[in-house]
Amino acid sequence: MEDKYDLTVVGGGITGLASAYIAAKSGKKVRVLEGSKTFGGLLNTFEIGGSRLEFYYHHFFTHDAEINWLIKELGIADKLFFKQTLMGVYRKGKIYDFNSPLDLFKFKPIKFIDKFKFGLSSLYLGKMANWEQYENTPAIDWFYKNAGTTSTDALWKPMHDIKFGPYAKEVPLAWMVGRLKQRFSSRKSGEEQLGYIEGSLQVLLDALLAKLKELGVQLFSETKVESLMVENNTLKGLKTNKRELQVGKTLFTIPTIYLKELTKPVSEKLTEELNNIEYFGAVCFILEMKKPLSEIYWLNVADEGFPFGGVIEQTNFIPKEKYNGKYIAYLSRYFAHSEAIATMSNEEIKQLMVKPLKKIYPNFSEDDLLNVHIFKTMTAATVCDLNFSKKIPNCKTEIEGMYLASMPHIYPDERSTNNSIRLAAEANKVMGVDASFVPYGQSMSGKIGFN
Ligand SMILES: Cc1cc2nc3c(=O)[nH]c(=O)nc-3n(C[C@H](O)[C@H](O)[C@H](O)COP(=O)(O)OP(=O)(O)OC[C@H]3O[C@@H](n4cnc5c(N)ncnc54)[C@H](O)[C@@H]3O)c2cc1C
Repeated sequence: MEDKYDLTVVGGGITGLASAYIAAKSGKKVRVLEGSKTFGGLLNTFEIGGSRLEFYYHHFFTHDAEINWLIKELGIADKLFFKQTLMGVYRKGKIYDFNSPLDLFKFKPIKFIDKFKFGLSSLYLGKMANWEQYENTPAIDWFYKNAGTTSTDALWKPMHDIKFGPYAKEVPLAWMVGRLKQRFSSRKSGEEQLGYIEGSLQVLLDALLAKLKELGVQLFSETKVESLMVENNTLKGLKTNKRELQVGKTLFTIPTIYLKELTKPVSEKLTEELNNIEYFGAVCFILEMKKPLSEIYWLNVADEGFPFGGVIEQTNFIPKEKYNGKYIAYLSRYFAHSEAIATMSNEEIKQLMVKPLKKIYPNFSEDDLLNVHIFKTMTAATVCDLNFSKKIPNCKTEIEGMYLASMPHIYPDERSTNNSIRLAAEANKVMGVDASFVPYGQSMSGKIGFN
């Protein structure tokens, strides 16, 4: 593997693979180095009931222009579909539908006047607000002031607490603006439409990997970058678990908590910058069952004392027949690295997750459980705290030839497959590669640090 490449991409998740695709489509000679056995990172899937399923639930939004573009490029547009889904909220012993303004009016835990405040403040954030104004405003404080006390107590606060744990008070309203814009844009006359790929995201990954090979991109799995070789402030090479490689331009798409270990010996400044960025981990606890839990696809658990914040019933989105008649649900839990769940064994996680289900779904019985699957990642999302934009490192680093495009660059948007593709396009532009053919949607990613 000498340096006969215009670009080396480190990390074979969707950001790395999309970056490689854009560069190769622009005529560049590219290779991708991926540390694990399979490409795809957080998009990886496993076999269940004769089909593939994501380790971590995934769907797309109707306004996601970049992923729509990629799917068309790969010739799999016929596999993409959008469907209306049912949302719900669990609060104090009751499941409430949460799909329309009428549902909001039926939601008992919020006082009448606060329902208006909740609706109007959400509308303002999702449709009108400018995120830059709210970088230094803790979202929870703003909700207490503007969304009504009972709605913040019953919805925003418990949802923040379970999702952000010890960081709940530091989430800026700017991030909520990005999140709510995403959710509002995916609604048609009030109803949310979510997208998925027939056969799972594995279909997207397989098609992308095949296309990359067709374009001559060299794909190296089980090739973990272990250190950087820098001379005269220029990145000259990479030491991997397999061999040393000479490199020219190199784009790092790996989580910055791993990258900072590589930069430690070569750049104090860059390491210091990366050190400011922390990650949330996530556990997806997947239940295979004989019976469904409910009719709702996405249930937010807005209640104290539960070990998970969401129940996502895959088979209320994709028919159970696709999984040999098994009902499938994810229990989702984000965690800070300091929380106990970060170091729990799978058996401990199982003990934690299953019992509280009965509280939400009294008809649930452990006898209906056929199997469980547990997936854990330490890099599910960056901790976007107050004034996060100031922490975002430049794509072009102070080390000549070394570029970064990773989850922190998605801010103020929510990290997603679509936003990874936007990021990949922006990173290519910074490296002088044409990416003008990637259409713009509403993504706000890849703007900060990409001048
Ligand atoms: C619970 C959960 C739910 C989600 N839901 C959705 C959703 O509904 N819709 C949506 O669009 N997105 C969703 N996402 C987000 C989406 O999965 C991510 O935004 C996206 O996959 C990130 O891709 P990435 O390439 O930036 O990072 P990753 O997928 O983390 O890829 C990084 C890659 O770098 C590799 N690597 C690390 N270190 C090294 C090294 N030293 N050398 C070589 N390789 C290395 C890793 O093995 C990995 O493959 C979800 C994520 C989670 C965790």
